[in-house]
Amino acid sequence: MKLFMPERVIFEPSSLKYPLGVELYDFFTNNDIEVIKSTSNKTSSFIPGITPITKYTNSKKTILITTMKNKKLDFCSPSADYQFSLVSNCPGSCEYCYLQTTQGEKPSIKVYVNLEDIFQVIKQHIKDEGITTFEVASLGDPLALEHITGSLAKTIEFFGELENAKLRVVTKFSNVDSLLQLKHNGNTRFRVSINTENVIDNFEHNTARLNERIETASKLIAHNYPIGFIVAPIMVYDTWEEDYKDLFTLLYEGFGYKYNHEEITFELIQHRFTARAKDMILQRFPHTKLDMDEEKRMLKWGRYGRFKYVYPKEQSCEIKTFISSLIMDKFPNAKIEYFT
Ligand code: SF4
Repeated sequence: MKLFMPERVIFEPSSLKYPLGVELYDFFTNNDIEVIKSTSNKTSSFIPGITPITKYTNSKKTILITTMKNKKLDFCSPSADYQFSLVSNCPGSCEYCYLQTTQGEKPSIKVYVNLEDIFQVIKQHIKDEGITTFEVASLGDPLALEHITGSLAKTIEFFGELENAKLRVVTKFSNVDSLLQLKHNGNTRFRVSINTENVIDNFEHNTARLNERIETASKLIAHNYPIGFIVAPIMVYDTWEEDYKDLFTLLYEGFGYKYNHEEITFELIQHRFTARAKDMILQRFPHTKLDMDEEKRMLKWGRYGRFKYVYPKEQSCEIKTFISSLIMDKFPNAKIEYFT
């Protein structure tokens, strides 16, 4: 897919004190991108837009260069012990995106340039015993910006030298070539996000196509990265069973048969939405085909203090059983880590 380039980049004052901030400043000014040096951390007024749609689309073309101030990492159940971020948000426009309600009305893409501080905080969270796992993609997709920042590569090599910590990355993008030769030491597990062609075509705008994602997984495993797949969000619609069957056939033909399946993991996440997310999605995508009919769902209390709508118990058991059987049919030794 075509690599993303922003229309405008805003630098917060603190960002230019770090080598990566300065490097990015030079890069964007040399590439004829609109660069704004902000004198304060209040930057949303630099992003044009009046309606929810124009605010959203302009924000998705804007990068904010900033610094990560958190010294304490959040837990990241069920996928890892902790989460941290190199970026938040991404240039993709998935209609169902779980970040719709957490990034404000102008969800620009944030890049954190104080990598040394971030690595220091990670080191402080490694447990004395056992392996500590860290998720880097819970608030965005760092691979989507890797051709600009290079910071995922530095993070993979940082983890490559750690003995008791593992990195976990999720992506819907495909530009992994710059990561293939890194000294990762098997400490980074990539999980490629996959879904039916129907879901990708209708809801996952500006992300890599399914065949590109499968090719990405093949390249990574050929370079000895541990690999997994996140099947998310699993949606029930008229032809969902045939479509998910096709998905695993394509995955098997494009990737699966070549490798030892024992090392492959699957994470399964059913589609869910909150009342607030539904409202936001309808403002930004008024013609969305997303099924957000509350009558067909049940309410479940979420860990972020909000009720979310998930499939009713019987239906979610059916989804879990069906998708698990498709996986076991094609990848009998793979590990299904969780269904949620
Ligand atoms: S790729 Fe991930 S972070 Fe980006 S819009 Fe889609 S769901 Fe959200």
